[in-house]
Amino acid sequence: ADVVETAQFSAWMRRYADVIHENAGLLTELDSAIGDADHGSNMDRGMTAVVAALDGAEFASAAELFKKVGMTLVSSVGGASGPLYGTFFLRFGGKLGDGPVDAATLGDALHAGVDGIVQRGKAAVGDKTMIDAWVPALEAYDAAQADGLDVALRAAAEAGARGRDAATPLVAHKGRASYLGERSAGHQDPGATSTVLLLETAAATLG
Ligand code: ADP
Ligand code: MG
Ligand code: MG
Repeated sequence: ADVVETAQFSAWMRRYADVIHENAGLLTELDSAIGDADHGSNMDRGMTAVVAALDGAEFASAAELFKKVGMTLVSSVGGASGPLYGTFFLRFGGKLGDGPVDAATLGDALHAGVDGIVQRGKAAVGDKTMIDAWVPALEAYDAAQADGLDVALRAAAEAGARGRDAATPLVAHKGRASYLGERSAGHQDPGATSTVLLLETAAATLG
């Protein structure tokens, strides 16, 4: 489709909650190698709370929906990922406006969300965080945007996965993984992994 309706955004969040639940074991296993073994349980708890908050609620706009999503993640996830994803969704929603969302507006919203993650976490590409998935995903989205949001979201998910994989050999410079120094190299980043799941579910539900 050419535009995203508000109902599709809530379908995205429900699908993401399901996929996070299915992948919670994997995410926690990745975090056990270079963190504190809680990324799966953090994200699962957060997205379960998001679904509970969406159930039975009515939202006048996508902005309101994502305000709820973001605030729920900030308040229910104690780890680094809660405030980072929470900020993403708050900033993302803030750019969506009232009506159906076109490819350009969706791109602006994705950029605003990622700018929020960077402001909060101060990570750059190469630091081995979720930013290593997000930045190439945005570049791919921008490059494909003229082909429609369907194509652009799929390109973003694929580029995000390549960015996630490119970060695996790197030494972490932000977050708990950085405490390991050189020993963080050779391990896939949990947050980059959950970010790719978010992008893949976006391509599946919003396109
Ligand atoms: P915690 O590290 O507090 O236990 P999680 O395990 O839920 O939190 O999340 C870890 C993930 O958060 C990492 O894999 C990384 O992708 C991401 N992360 C950590 N610090 C930052 C940061 N400063 N900027 C961006 N992402 C970060
Ligand atoms: Mg952790
Ligand atoms: Mg933790």
